[in-house]
Formats: sequence, structure tokens, C-alpha cells
Amino acid sequence: MTIRVLLVEDEEALAVMLRYNLEAEGYDVTTAPDGEEGELLLAEQPFDIAILDWMLPGVSGIELCRRIRADKRTRDMPVMLLTARSEETDKVRGLSIGADDYVVKPFSVPELLARIKALLRRASPRKIAEVIETGDIRLDRAAHTAWRGKRKLRLGPVEMRLLAFLMENPGRVHSRAQLLDHVWGRDKFVDERAVDVCIGRLRKALTSDGEPNPIRTVRAAGYMLEK
Ligand code: CA
Repeated sequence: MTIRVLLVEDEEALAVMLRYNLEAEGYDVTTAPDGEEGELLLAEQPFDIAILDWMLPGVSGIELCRRIRADKRTRDMPVMLLTARSEETDKVRGLSIGADDYVVKPFSVPELLARIKALLRRASPRKIAEVIETGDIRLDRAAHTAWRGKRKLRLGPVEMRLLAFLMENPGRVHSRAQLLDHVWGRDKFVDERAVDVCIGRLRKALTSDGEPNPIRTVRAAGYMLEK
């Protein structure tokens, strides 16, 4: 599963450099030049982590962080602050408003990347893990392979992403719209029925040896992978 990063930074050269480095790590990066746009993006789509510059025109990184923590949709998302200030009081203030970590400009890019990875590992360990397991289903992201017990599953790329997403959140019900967002991405014009078709294919692959069906259809709500 791709990790979605929101980067809010008004210094364009820095934003471009960070985007380049984050994309090289395999992250899906969306940038915003100010707090207002960052907030709009957060309301529109799910992110796994936000990297916020402290000093922004309009809504500051601090204020945006406070709003992220106040919103139940984004409350648990890790937030990394970038700051040009190094005073200890400011650092403390940064963390007390709910940022999970911060780096002081100028920072080393490898260090920032390592700390982002640490935050993600803590917040969404199943998303970061190369191999995830749920019951007798195992998925190896690096090898793009999944098994049920000892049986290797024949899955297309979309079914593989769908399975990975369900396995990242076992026991949770996802609506078709949520699955579209997370698996297909918001930009793609795909009908919600595509979700049903893909779930059908995935179920078939998972149960082709007569195994019990692990994906539950929850009426009027969506789909869930049994824990
Ligand atoms: Ca700035």
C-alpha cells in the first residue's frame, strides 16, 4: 500500500527537493504551499502522515497541527513539523500542540526520512511491514505475492492492493467509497461497482480450494476482512 504524504511548505525549492526525496522512497506525495490549501486537502482525502512547515503564510503549521488533532478523521495521523526556529521553548511548544516530531532547518534529508519512517512504523505498522499476515493469509509486498496457507494466490495488481488494504485494517468495515479512495485513488474515475467486482475476484481467489470466505459483506456498510 502506498503511503500518502501531505507536505505543506511555502518555500518552493524546499518543497520540490523534499517531494523528490520522498517519492524516491516510494511515498505518494501531495504538496500545498500554505495552511489553507493543506487543510482543504486533508478534508478531501486520507493521508498517512503530514509534514508541516511551522512558518506558513496565513494558517501556520502550528495552527494546522492543532486543527488536525481536533478533527476526529485526522486525530491519529502522525505530524512532523519543520521549523527554522531552534529555541527550546519553541520545540516544546511544537510538541505540546500535538506534533509527533520535528526537525530544525536546515536538516539532513536522510535524518528526516528516517524519522518519518519511525513515525509511520509506530502509527501504522501493518502499512510499513513488507510481510503482513491475517489468519492464514500472508502477503509479501516486495514480492507482490500472497498466499492462503501454502497456496499461492493468483491476483491482479488491483486485487493485490485491495487485499493489502483489507489486511492493514482487519476487522474493520470499509465502505465502497473508502475502498475506492484507498485502493484506486481519488483521481481515478471508477464506479463503486468496480469495488464489488474486485471483491468478488479476490474472494474467488481466496476460497478456490474450498476455504472459508474471509471477506464479510456488511449490509449497507461495505466490506470487512475477518481478523
Ligand atoms: Ca516557511
